[in-house]
Amino acid sequence: MTKPLKQGAVIGILGGGQLGRMLAVAASRMGFRTHVFEPQENPPASHVSDLVTTAAYEDTEALSKFARSVDVITFEFENIPSEALNIVEAICNVLPARNALKTSQDRLIEKEFLTNLNLTVAPYANIETEEDLTQAIKIVGFPSILKTRRFGYDGKGQFKIKNETDLKNSWAKLKNSPCVLEGLVNFTKEISVIGARNQDGEVVCFDPGENLHRDGILHTTTLPANISASQNIDAVLLTGKILNALNYVGVMGVELFVTKDGLLINEIAPRVHNSGHWTQNGCVIDQFEQHIRAISGWPLGDGKRHSNVLMTNLIGSEVLDVETLSRDTDVGIHLYGKADAKDGRKMGHINKILN
Ligand code: AMP
Repeated sequence: MTKPLKQGAVIGILGGGQLGRMLAVAASRMGFRTHVFEPQENPPASHVSDLVTTAAYEDTEALSKFARSVDVITFEFENIPSEALNIVEAICNVLPARNALKTSQDRLIEKEFLTNLNLTVAPYANIETEEDLTQAIKIVGFPSILKTRRFGYDGKGQFKIKNETDLKNSWAKLKNSPCVLEGLVNFTKEISVIGARNQDGEVVCFDPGENLHRDGILHTTTLPANISASQNIDAVLLTGKILNALNYVGVMGVELFVTKDGLLINEIAPRVHNSGHWTQNGCVIDQFEQHIRAISGWPLGDGKRHSNVLMTNLIGSEVLDVETLSRDTDVGIHLYGKADAKDGRKMGHINKILN
């Protein structure tokens, strides 16, 4: 059995966005202190953390100092520069470990990893050179989606492709960077599973949620998902398989397409996930506490859902409706403390209890 971190231990969080903020709140509730590392001034997580380092990921001295000041390091986003990880990893334990980040930072490596596990993904082809375009068309065909292998999020860095001209133009728009061409999946719905694994290899998954996107950004997650019992268990089992294969420690989000032929994996995120925010009001132990439990050697919560929930993201000016929303006593409100309600910016979310 892993020895749990002592009360008052410091949890380092790379990234100070809303996910870091909610991780810091959970850590604080559990008697830990937090230290956030974030290049930007005044990030959401800084309002609720004990310590904040404002420095670039290239600032090796600041990274070393940060790593020396904490007992374990975790992160809230997957695009942490590899040189920054080299520095902190040499000083302090980083969880989830490097292999999970390496796998999910690059869509090609991720798809190869999943395929090797005998899990199903959309047909795909790697594109690095002009010649690869012709080969990719042969393998994947049209309609398809061209995605950058790295640094894509919320539908950014991807284009729908209808023909060869589209493909050439879109690849040029993506500056001929390494991409994957993916077959367009004719899905009936999108679901996701938030799973957790701790240092003793204990695995627990929350129930699959049903996701609706708007303009490439998650709009709502509904629990329970309207899927069959066998789809439900398939989704949970494949999440467990991924967690075990990576020897993973922490919470992970697995995004899936439901098709008439079964489940396809869209992508995995080695961190707490927007589609798991419903757990804050639908479960006794939510995804943020679950993650902190996993990385600090506590037993995991059992993932049980006590309520049906509709999670809705508040994007941009939608946050201005909060006064009206707050009159509904069945609604849990979670705001991120961001100053500008810019278009497309995630400002907060609400969890409406449905039962
Ligand atoms: P991603 O950034 O890969 O999570 O994609 C964002 C959203 O685009 C997904 O949630 C889907 O709604 C849609 N999408 C991505 N890839 C595909 C695909 N191969 N087929 C159909 N829709 C897709």
